[in-house]
Amino acid sequence: MPNKTDIFWERNIETKKVPNDEVNFDIIIVGGGPAGSATACYAANEGFKVLLLEKEEFPRDKVCGDAVGGKALKHLEELNMLKSLEKSPHFIFDSVIFSNTKEEKVKVEIKDSEATGYVYPRINFDWIIFNEAKNRVEKNGGFVIQKFRVNNLIIDNEDNNRIIGVKGKNGANEKEFYAPITIGAGGVNCPVAKTIISEINGEEFIKKEHWSTSFREYWKGVDGVDYEKGAIEFHYVDGVIPGYFWIFPVGDNTCNVGLGITLKDFKNKEMKLKELQKYIIDEKFASRFKNAKLVKDSGKAWQLPLGSPRKDKVKLRRMFGNGCLLVGDSGSLVDPFTGEGIGNALLSAKIAVKHFKENRNNFNLECGENYQKEIWEILGKELTNSFKIQNYTRKKWLINWFIGKAQRKPELQKILSESLTSKEAQRQLTSPWILFKNLVF
Ligand SMILES: Cc1cc2nc3c(=O)[nH]c(=O)nc-3n(C[C@H](O)[C@H](O)[C@H](O)COP(=O)(O)OP(=O)(O)OC[C@H]3O[C@@H](n4cnc5c(N)ncnc54)[C@H](O)[C@@H]3O)c2cc1C
Repeated sequence: MPNKTDIFWERNIETKKVPNDEVNFDIIIVGGGPAGSATACYAANEGFKVLLLEKEEFPRDKVCGDAVGGKALKHLEELNMLKSLEKSPHFIFDSVIFSNTKEEKVKVEIKDSEATGYVYPRINFDWIIFNEAKNRVEKNGGFVIQKFRVNNLIIDNEDNNRIIGVKGKNGANEKEFYAPITIGAGGVNCPVAKTIISEINGEEFIKKEHWSTSFREYWKGVDGVDYEKGAIEFHYVDGVIPGYFWIFPVGDNTCNVGLGITLKDFKNKEMKLKELQKYIIDEKFASRFKNAKLVKDSGKAWQLPLGSPRKDKVKLRRMFGNGCLLVGDSGSLVDPFTGEGIGNALLSAKIAVKHFKENRNNFNLECGENYQKEIWEILGKELTNSFKIQNYTRKKWLINWFIGKAQRKPELQKILSESLTSKEAQRQLTSPWILFKNLVF
């Protein structure tokens, strides 16, 4: 373990004070999670003068499974952040365990070494990305403010509801800032997303089949876990299906333990999330938790806005307004099967800055539409496949049959293993014929 003095990710992050007359920027970013911090980095790298606004003060926790997969790692490498990240404690996952309601289980190795991932406590992970964003933004003449809550957008009604800036509070002080583009990166309850989706366009913000609810705790001393490198675990358990219960080691003798389920399926459950988690740990996993201790105050519920395809032509929930784009959870991009959102948050950050760079003088609705189209072009296939797989998990007999078969059939293990990294293998997983062939014969 590092010395206390080396534990840089626990320090306060000092930022420059914004002078009173400094109100105009190239780009305003609301929210300093992975999506907002990555947008700030990509934008500062392009030479833009950035204002990054965050309502909390780092270090701060974010409810998550903490798994940072191959896609996210590629972006972090591109942003030159992997070295700093590797200095703070994390778990390396090189395999995934799936189990069914009959307690049959299959362990799928991740063959492509580039696609192994980390499990990284978000309290540290987000500190490192935000700190990096702060350094790059300030070096480039921009500003970062913590404890600044954006409350309202400044809208020019004469110019087709163009978003021209934001209003918010830093302690008792109300402030206004202006920019030709505002990026909504405030997560599930992002005020920018709410304004452009509900208020300006009168569209539905939450659709129950495209929204998951979840609960997470940290536990120390769970049995049957290697705390440095090994498997992350997804368990299909009676009571949670079609959602799942997970055990993800994070290092330091600790596991991130939780469950998630769509709102549509949750409404039929008898127990609240916290009760359901207790029931699973006490009744189904008692032997593995007999020596384990719950980390105090770590139990929290949170929501996941999913990127599963909608029935209408646009497919994804609206991700733009006039003079404004949404990235990460604010753009509802979480994978509907795995619950991963960090990779898509970083990807959308990169694409948003690319589109702004191409149209910085007049970022209008058409530019926003093009951004959303490109996101769908890149992510459409995998989100559609994930949605199909998520739908299969509604059938308990199918999960049981599939995991039971996979336990015994190397061909299925191979498809599963490749599906963790390859789009073609994901397609095979959703092809009824390929599945039928492998399951029946
Ligand atoms: C239980 C659970 C498990 C998950 N597991 C995984 C996983 O294992 N792997 C994975 O990849 N993803 C996982 N996800 C999804 C992942 O957590 C999100 O996709 C990811 O955090 C999205 O990043 P973001 O920056 O868009 O939003 P967030 O991380 O939510 O960041 C938003 C930021 O905006 C700030 N903010 C909000 N409102 C305002 C405001 N008004 N003014 C200023 N600032 C504001 C917030 O304080 C926050 O810092 C999980 C989610 C949940 C709930």
